[in-house]
Amino acid sequence: MKLSQPYSSNSTFEGELAIAGVTARNLANEFGTPLFVIDEDDFHQRAGAWRDALIRHFGNHAGTVYYAGKSFLNKEVARWINQVGIGFDVCSGGELAVARSVNFPATNIELHGNNKSESEIREAIEYGVGTIVMDSFFEIERVARIAAELGKIQKVYLRLTAGVEAHTHEFISTAHEDQKFGFSIASGSAWKAVEATSAHASLRLAGFHSHIGSQIFIAEGFEVAAARLIELLAKYRDHFDAQLPELDLGGGYGIAYLPGESGLDPDEVLASISAVVKRECEKHSLTIPTISIEPGRHIVGPTTTTIYAVGTTKSVELDGGESRRYIAVDGGMSDNIRPSLYGAEYTALLANRLSESAPVNSRIVGKHCESGDIVIRQIELPGDIAPGDLLAVPATGAYGRSMASNYNHIPRPAVVAVKAGKARLITRRESINDLLALDI
Ligand SMILES: *Cc1c(COP(=O)(O)O)cnc(C)c1O
Repeated sequence: MKLSQPYSSNSTFEGELAIAGVTARNLANEFGTPLFVIDEDDFHQRAGAWRDALIRHFGNHAGTVYYAGKSFLNKEVARWINQVGIGFDVCSGGELAVARSVNFPATNIELHGNNKSESEIREAIEYGVGTIVMDSFFEIERVARIAAELGKIQKVYLRLTAGVEAHTHEFISTAHEDQKFGFSIASGSAWKAVEATSAHASLRLAGFHSHIGSQIFIAEGFEVAAARLIELLAKYRDHFDAQLPELDLGGGYGIAYLPGESGLDPDEVLASISAVVKRECEKHSLTIPTISIEPGRHIVGPTTTTIYAVGTTKSVELDGGESRRYIAVDGGMSDNIRPSLYGAEYTALLANRLSESAPVNSRIVGKHCESGDIVIRQIELPGDIAPGDLLAVPATGAYGRSMASNYNHIPRPAVVAVKAGKARLITRRESINDLLALDI
């Protein structure tokens, strides 16, 4: 049986879970647990879907799909991104180093971050990154000076806050945003940033950027933000008698985490954004700018499943005669901080066998010294789950391994790519020796 969302697209269950034809048991035996398993064809297909949808809806005005590297990054994924022919959004020297290590084409890289260091800026400009997205007045001066020292003219965007804050099923439209990112349009600092940037011969302002949130399911937030950026493009045109050619509308496209949910469709959301961009540009008599986007979660999240081994179970009496079974797995908040950080919800299945046992009220917890170390707060799972069983948690590709920590000196898990019945290691498991090697 083929499993549907939130499982990766090549996941099946024939008495046990297999991903791209490799069973959970074989994966656990060969690579150990906890393990991140990434469905390679699914990754290519999802990244390609954004590339194709952007071209379909914006035609000549299609800019670049930048994969947000912070969602999950290693060298192999950077190679895949390049094979798909899309760009790369990095926001630190470390992420840039991954891109450089696989010779990722510099012009397809965009550098983000609200506090880029001098050396990060220098490395980026030396490497020749296509775009630096600037986030503060200090940074405008810093990037301008370093580009001048290196004898380069750097293409830049300004990161703007458009007064739109989007969440999963709602968006809030306010004038001001109380957050660390960007220049606010409403307060006038966005315009001051335009003037400050334009004063530097070593900077070429190409356009504006906005990123309104994450795990968003409604297009209206993107549409309102786009309209406000376009209004500022018109102001720029009126003032400088020239048009800025580019806009970047950021990422944040929502995915399915639980059974019955489905992710945003790239075609649908880009169709509605495209309609708004055309309408607003017409309203201001502007040429349509090239539109770029930065999906992270939507590309990698659904491609990856975490496989855990069960270590213990324990039944706890609740008030009212109910009971809850705690199932402890061999990872937890060190490989998936999202449940404790955001109250994020996941689903899980018994991966190594079919159970006829009746489902019982269960909570999946990790092995860390925190009572908040919870993978899934409430789930019905077969009553006979026991030590040695494997649990699979789907849709852990985004902000799982990339936010992993060494809390309790737990080495971070390996990442394995599966494709057409074959599995290969793409990031090895950290060892205790890796951790000990840091101490003097
Ligand atoms: C985090 C982030 C993204 C990606 O967000 P997703 O929710 O993973 O799509 C894109 N752009 C910027 C600037 C970000 O900070």
